[in-house]
Amino acid sequence: MSVSPSGAGRYAPSPSGDLHFGNLRTAVLAWLFARRSGRRFLLRVEDIDTQRSSTESADRQIEDLLTLGLDFDGEVWNQQDRYPAYEAAVEELRARGLVYECYCSRREIREASGAPHVLPGCYPGTCRDLDDVTRDRRRAELAADNRVPALRLRAEVTEWTVRDHYAGDYTGEVDDLVLRRGGQCPDWAYNLAVTVDDAAQGVDQVVRGRDLLSSAPRQAYLAHLLGYPEVGYVHVPLVLGPERKRLAKRDGAVTLRQMLEHGSMAGVRSRIARSVGVDGVSDMGDLLERFDPAALPGDDVVWVAPDQRGR
Ligand code: GLU
Repeated sequence: MSVSPSGAGRYAPSPSGDLHFGNLRTAVLAWLFARRSGRRFLLRVEDIDTQRSSTESADRQIEDLLTLGLDFDGEVWNQQDRYPAYEAAVEELRARGLVYECYCSRREIREASGAPHVLPGCYPGTCRDLDDVTRDRRRAELAADNRVPALRLRAEVTEWTVRDHYAGDYTGEVDDLVLRRGGQCPDWAYNLAVTVDDAAQGVDQVVRGRDLLSSAPRQAYLAHLLGYPEVGYVHVPLVLGPERKRLAKRDGAVTLRQMLEHGSMAGVRSRIARSVGVDGVSDMGDLLERFDPAALPGDDVVWVAPDQRGR
């Protein structure tokens, strides 16, 4: 792995509950990749979803990551402090004619997305070319209900290719993605916030769960439009629950605090270490020395609750 003294990696959790085994494992992997390559390692609280985020949850997450033995450089960033930067990025795109208002409800998008020519999960472009009279009318209709329109990117491509450490060159769809959500509480959108913040923090290595690989082309395209440097992606396998879906709280004793009720901190660390391909670690420093990215198991890990193991 090449050493990048000026670069940074990061872990960027959304504070909507305690971190579970899958989140902790991804955090450890992000830390391992950053530290092994001589990068700084940053922590960013992705609390733009104002309905679901809480400061208490962010504090508990940070405490858990420190207890686990990870260390971070610099201040922890909160996305709620970053709104002026998101506004400025959207303004820059708007000045270049690359932003438009979207008045669609979720239902309208769902119905239109079912049309044969629309790729699944992609915005069908309903509001892209509306005339000014229609825009004024639709904006007024929303305003009467105390709502504002969403803002979307006028994408000039339909796909983009990123380079991923494990997936190689990955080409994925790019649609007219949301930059700011509409409605009564217009939150900034994840793809915008993550792109602006990674650039502002000098992040050049993004390690995260591979469920986000399909978002990477959208983010990389946005970064390209904003003139940001390219980042290197490392999308890692997920931890799945017993039903082979992304691990969730209902799958048993999955959070650090719950795991500690059933066992020791050393046990949790060695379980995480084993899941990334290293047996019998004594502490995080030992794991850092012995971790080999090439030996990371390629398959998703299936979670077995501590109280069900050995039965
Ligand atoms: N906040 C996202 C999450 O908790 C991660 C985003 C990212 O790493 O780009 O799933």
